[in-house]
Amino acid sequence: MEKILIIGCKKNMDDFCIACSRCMVGLNRRGGKFSRYKDQDAELVGILNCGDCPGAGIVTRLVQINLWNKPLEEKITKVHIANCLIDNCPHKETIITKIKNKAGVEVIEGTHPFIPNDIFA
Ligand code: SF4
Repeated sequence: MEKILIIGCKKNMDDFCIACSRCMVGLNRRGGKFSRYKDQDAELVGILNCGDCPGAGIVTRLVQINLWNKPLEEKITKVHIANCLIDNCPHKETIITKIKNKAGVEVIEGTHPFIPNDIFA
């Protein structure tokens, strides 16, 4: 069973992306970067924001979510970096590098496949 943590952009999650539903539906349907779990059990453990610009607290937040889930015996096995962070964050290289250096599990860049390309088409 894969236990998935999604990490996204705080500003997008707070102000633009409604309910993070695209990431969640993407995982439920095994779409986009979640297609790797097509024939596998996989659960969402959490959706964590970066902690706000410039994402300096991301490692602390990884420690916090690990502690928060310990009593539940939920151990994260995969981290996905959400499209909102990848597509919009000027600090993404630093943030993603920090996550990859500290997570201790595989970090996958990308989440759902529902990016609207033709809004007025
Ligand atoms: S650091 Fe990047 S991901 Fe985090 S809120 Fe700012 S723009 Fe978004």
